[in-house]
Amino acid sequence: MAIINLQQIENNLAQVHLKDYGQLREILDKALELKGLSISEVAFLLQLDDEELWAQTYEAARQIKHKIYGPRIVIFAPLYLSNYCTNNCRYCGFSIENREITRKVLFDQEIVDQAKLLEDQGHKRILLVSGEHPNFSPIEYVSRAMDLIYKNTGIRRINVNIAPLSVEDFQVLKAAGIGTYQLFQETYHPATYRYLHSGRKQDYEWRITAFDRAMAAGIDDVGMGILFGLYDYKFELLALLQHAAYLEDNFGVGPHTISVPRMKKAQGAAIQLPPVPVDDTTFRKIVAVLRLAVPYTGLILSTREAPQLRDELLSLGVSQISAGSCTSPGGYGQEREDNSQFSLEDTRSLDEVIHSICQKGYLPSFCTACYRNSRTGKDFMDLAKTGEIKNFCNLNAILTFKENLLDYASPETRRLGEVLIASWLENLQPGVKDTIRHKLNLIEHGSRDLYY
Ligand code: SAM
Ligand code: SF4
Repeated sequence: MAIINLQQIENNLAQVHLKDYGQLREILDKALELKGLSISEVAFLLQLDDEELWAQTYEAARQIKHKIYGPRIVIFAPLYLSNYCTNNCRYCGFSIENREITRKVLFDQEIVDQAKLLEDQGHKRILLVSGEHPNFSPIEYVSRAMDLIYKNTGIRRINVNIAPLSVEDFQVLKAAGIGTYQLFQETYHPATYRYLHSGRKQDYEWRITAFDRAMAAGIDDVGMGILFGLYDYKFELLALLQHAAYLEDNFGVGPHTISVPRMKKAQGAAIQLPPVPVDDTTFRKIVAVLRLAVPYTGLILSTREAPQLRDELLSLGVSQISAGSCTSPGGYGQEREDNSQFSLEDTRSLDEVIHSICQKGYLPSFCTACYRNSRTGKDFMDLAKTGEIKNFCNLNAILTFKENLLDYASPETRRLGEVLIASWLENLQPGVKDTIRHKLNLIEHGSRDLYY
């Protein structure tokens, strides 16, 4: 079965919809029941060009976000292992033809040191990232890096974003304790894909079938994404949702997360500006539509985006954010970030991000319990769909946030965080409240890594 049906996408996008309030209401009502949306329903939403109708769509996205995720926001940071790459992706600073950056691959001690710097900020989840190079970052290197980090630091979950692998190599990642395997198709449009990539990455089929091989290797949490700005966003969204539906049909579980990176300027890259730019208004629409279409899939937003827009997108559907990030190997702890993959808009520290989202009423979560209790893939989604997961997640968010406040927060963030925790406790059922109070008390007296 083909993963992407180009004809279906074109047919859906060819239909012009007038302002059809009735149909919109039906679609929004279905989404509000947390049933997700079909490709044609998403195509309908994407064709709306009336601000009043969009206002209703945003409102539905806000309600869904709140219903499923409550106030919590999962926080992580990337750790770049190597910027050596044999591919030539025209938009990327690590491309082989870029002579403007210095190449670097982290050695054992540097890997541990970089992970510890993230831990010292308060991170518990990281995303390992690397260029594709058979000599500098083969699978043995990546799995060794994971092993070093798990054994020598307090990092509790390692997600990985590296080039597609064979089933055997995915098995190595599985054995090393991967959380989510993340891979962005960049663009689902085959001709644009071939134009923008050369080297091994030019093989569209090898990339689009990567999750099949990851699943075959037992990695059932996979994270999809599109690099927005390369091709028409409407086409991309429909194709991504086809890909998500394909995973659900074939493996019984859709993507664990979807990332929404927008192409940014990268020093020395062949193209400096996105060929088909996505402006902020369109970007809000993308996030809102995804929230409606795949309510249980985590939406990830990185520090590519500016603080104010990030805050806004949290209410529209984003459930995970990176913070305090750096996109060059060895960049943490350096005064200046050289050799980065692309430029970042949000350069605030983790503490500043936490403070800012707490001011808006969000609950930062450093929870890693699901993955360590084997609540992944279909098991996770089944719990998510019955609403049960929410109970674990909010409570574990409180516990991990408490740890963060005690161990890493500035006095100001701690004060604000403690007030918020007290108010969230008030909303809990009496029995649960007592259990959580007891665990919070244990954390205050030095216990760590308690989860519900
Ligand atoms: N090398 C592997 C690959 O290409 O899949 C994994 C790591 S790559 C560094 C991670 C992601 O960075 C890519 O999938 C791409 O979407 C993103 N990226 C590359 N250049 C970018 C740019 N100029 N702006 C924003 N994101 C970019
Ligand atoms: Fe290499 Fe990935 Fe950058 Fe392409 S996007 S040049 S594969 S690091």
